[in-house]
Amino acid sequence: MKKYAIGIDLGGTKILTALVNKETGEVVSFVKKKTKKEKGPRNIIRKMVESIDELLNDCELTQQEISSIGIGAAGQNDRENCTLIAAPNLDCYDLNFKEAIGKHFAIPVFLGNDVEIATIGEMKFGAAKGYDDFVCIFVGTGVGSAIVKNGQLIKGATGTAGEIGHVIVDLNGRPCACGAHGCLEAYASRTAIETRIEGALKKGRKSCILEYLENGKSITSSMIQKSIERDDELVIQCVTEASEYLSGGIASVINFINPQLIVLGGGLIEAVDYFYQKTIKKARAKSLPVPAQKIEFRKAALGDFSGVIGAAFLEDRGY
Ligand SMILES: [Zn+2]
Repeated sequence: MKKYAIGIDLGGTKILTALVNKETGEVVSFVKKKTKKEKGPRNIIRKMVESIDELLNDCELTQQEISSIGIGAAGQNDRENCTLIAAPNLDCYDLNFKEAIGKHFAIPVFLGNDVEIATIGEMKFGAAKGYDDFVCIFVGTGVGSAIVKNGQLIKGATGTAGEIGHVIVDLNGRPCACGAHGCLEAYASRTAIETRIEGALKKGRKSCILEYLENGKSITSSMIQKSIERDDELVIQCVTEASEYLSGGIASVINFINPQLIVLGGGLIEAVDYFYQKTIKKARAKSLPVPAQKIEFRKAALGDFSGVIGAAFLEDRGY
């Protein structure tokens, strides 16, 4: 096995590209580029190629010493054909990375999705190291998850298993971006909390979060954390409500799959410990007694690097 691979985490706001030592999980060096302003396939590919060039120029390795380029992209993927089918956030459709990236380098290219690579990262070198049966749940703009059984990711018949964000928690509930009503994501994501806080502020509720909000800017996880530290009643209420729904979703996962471990990650979990602690306590209380006794909870351990580290291992799946 070659020791080094390149992992790329292609998200809605940034492209993180890293040279990863696959034996130790160490991120040897990395390049971060924003995707905010210039979207579209041409810009995305150009930035990815530039990032890989920068990494290769900085390290003392030849292309022959790099085993693969693994890309994790948020959106619908055709992994076998290495094609990003649709990523509306990036304005990219039917983008074949094997062609677009592959023609610039003599290194094989592999594709997975963003939640998948973060989960592989946590399994190899993070919070789930040593576990065979676990579920990773990431809470941020949305709520995503991946299921690992016997050390393998469960993909499902169409490769979309693990969409916990679209588990329906209220039959007549809030509309979700997917078109359904009452999805968990519409209640437990950072976006959902943001919508609740903004709605209450419009109705005249008071909150110290106003002091952090610049005109037109959206509420971030760190603003939520700062407001909780100041015992802000409105923010605590909205976060508690979100944790009520998330814990219900997690309890359902525990009862349904009976995993050894639940790993929680993502921006909101990392920044807001109150949300994490409340959620895991309630999830245990809402689960059936036998699995509730055994279930373990951990916070994701690799932060922003979980994705790039996991992406370096996409090649091991073989396509
Ligand atoms: Zn939905």
